[in-house]
Amino acid sequence: MPELPEVETVVRTLRRPLQGASIVGVRLGPRQLRRPWPVDRNFVFTTPRPVLGVYRRGKWIRCRLRGGWNLLFHLGMTGRLRVTDAEAALEPHTHLVFDLSPGNRQIRFQDIRRFGVADLLTDEECEALLSGEQLGPEPFDLTAEQLWQKARGSKRCLKAILMDQSVTAGVGNIYADEALFEARLHPARLGITLRREEAQRLRNALVSVLHRAIEVNGSTIRTFFFGEDGRGGYQNEFRVYHQTGKPCPRCGAVIRRLLVAGRSTHFCPRCQPAPRRRARTGSHR
Ligand SMILES: [Zn+2]
Repeated sequence: MPELPEVETVVRTLRRPLQGASIVGVRLGPRQLRRPWPVDRNFVFTTPRPVLGVYRRGKWIRCRLRGGWNLLFHLGMTGRLRVTDAEAALEPHTHLVFDLSPGNRQIRFQDIRRFGVADLLTDEECEALLSGEQLGPEPFDLTAEQLWQKARGSKRCLKAILMDQSVTAGVGNIYADEALFEARLHPARLGITLRREEAQRLRNALVSVLHRAIEVNGSTIRTFFFGEDGRGGYQNEFRVYHQTGKPCPRCGAVIRRLLVAGRSTHFCPRCQPAPRRRARTGSHR
């Protein structure tokens, strides 16, 4: 499932081909996505709509158009968004096609599982959705103090807190596991037990993991691709995610898998001490 680094990669891939381009039409596939496309707004494309910019916010992709309109996409689990030649064969599960001018090109949104979102929103609607209470700060803007306050006020575990889009936007299963490993914190630790310096460590770990993942175009596991056939490289650098049974790169202990916050969670039992043991032994780490 694409998370912040994968979505950032897609956004960067779209910027160049969409620079100076206008959308001149939209066509729908036979099946609907999670949220139906607003056909009553198709009139927007009866005049060419220049693309003003492509941006990421959390796991959302916003494409600003002239006239106060925005295309908003969420890749869900299996969404692919790319610019292709209009002559290229239409791939199965293509739900939306936007015709571009100049050049014989299209933006295509393809999604096998159909958990993705494609919508056409006004500036106000878009900003309400992206800066509202539902969407917390970008991890890079999140301060350790903010993270600590959110954790302390929560009855949930650290893994659930990191994946909560209202705490910070864009983090999912992969980067939550990797950041918790980097910070040496057990994913099932309760937020309320987090100390201030641990919040600092976790915030820094999260940012460094995400920066590195963006550098190598995210992680490709099964379905994430960008552009025509681009694959990420971060799956080659996973320290714990999907590494069950392998030795911890830091201490050699065997990486384990647990169900935490309803998600498959990977961690090192030695580097990331279990919460129960912590409680018995006080502040030792
Ligand atoms: Zn370890």
